[in-house]
Amino acid sequence: MSHGVRLLCVFSLALWVAACGGTTVSPQVELPSSSPGDTLTLAAATHQITLLVHFWERAYAGSRWRDVENTFTGTSDGVSLVSQMIRWQRERIHQLQIVPTFVQHQSANQYVATLRFADDPRAVPAYRIYVFGFHGTQPRVLGSTTGLKGSNFDNVRWSITRSAHFVVFHSPYEVQGADRQYLADLEYERTQVEHEFGVKLPAQASYHLYPNTTLMARLTGNTCGSSSDNVGCTDPYTRPPSIQTSLWPTYHEPIHVYQLAFEPPPTRSAVLVAPLFIAEGMAVALEDRQADPRLSDYCSTLIYIPLDDCARISVGQTRPIDLLTDRGFKRSDPGNAYALGGSFVKYLMLKYGYRPFAKFYYKLAAQPSDTLEDYNAATYGIYHLSTPQLVQAWQHQLCASGCS
Ligand SMILES: [Zn+2]
Repeated sequence: MSHGVRLLCVFSLALWVAACGGTTVSPQVELPSSSPGDTLTLAAATHQITLLVHFWERAYAGSRWRDVENTFTGTSDGVSLVSQMIRWQRERIHQLQIVPTFVQHQSANQYVATLRFADDPRAVPAYRIYVFGFHGTQPRVLGSTTGLKGSNFDNVRWSITRSAHFVVFHSPYEVQGADRQYLADLEYERTQVEHEFGVKLPAQASYHLYPNTTLMARLTGNTCGSSSDNVGCTDPYTRPPSIQTSLWPTYHEPIHVYQLAFEPPPTRSAVLVAPLFIAEGMAVALEDRQADPRLSDYCSTLIYIPLDDCARISVGQTRPIDLLTDRGFKRSDPGNAYALGGSFVKYLMLKYGYRPFAKFYYKLAAQPSDTLEDYNAATYGIYHLSTPQLVQAWQHQLCASGCS
């Protein structure tokens, strides 16, 4: 189907609802004392911050929210972290692990630390970047920071890290230390897609990584990140293709760049693209380091939740056949539309293979529109079945053990 402009995004699926609570127990961090005038070494500061986040882990396990808040000098950052922790508890994240992945001396007794919050290694972790002040060896959180200043993404002084196929623009406090592994993971995902589908992918992509979606919204003029669920955007038609994203969809957005290799080449007057149900479905299905639809992390928070688990819930709320057109897809709840598109594409890939899916994607993108007739031309051509027959077979398999 033909489009003048395309900006492809990812929306997160909110499965659980948060609530608040608290206790009045005081912090129990036991630290050796020293004179307030001393400046700690970087190693000593890192050690003390590690002790503090271990204290947070224990407070999290015991729901002692006041203990966490009391380690912040202001209220808003502490309340924000505790609100997030309460949401994680509601999402049944029981083994919260917090690690400082990068610590940098800032001034006098102040250090910036990037903290990684994780549970299941198959899920993408969450991050917060805090400024810690030390009174002697006792750290307290003075506030949060991003390390990025500017009014839009073009005039920000980004830190830049290059890998073989990505130019990554990021905060000086991200993609550091152990987190440089993410670059290798992005490259690995790209290699997997190229190998499995037998396609030649675009050589380069620019990749702007934002520490949070609020900053992403501000620096992109609300093009991306305008709601808390809108967490990443890709324009494959800039040169090089450009990705704006937070970390959570790190494996989703590059798929939209790779879709260039699955579509007919753009002409001066038009670009031919697949309907959102299949385009977003493909990005959801392949969003993991292995680009393996059985490992899609779309439904994961800090714990891993298989894609079909939430598709089984979504199918009771949204009729998949209504999602085929872009109009129907955009009118539906984004979480349901993305999960169902992802589950359907997963079915096609696993039942019929990756390379037939690449042919199907191309044939569908080459159709003039996104009607059932257009879909049928592609599904009959590649899978020898009508689209409703395929959708029905997928739903039958998805719900074999029951759908809610
Ligand atoms: Zn997307």
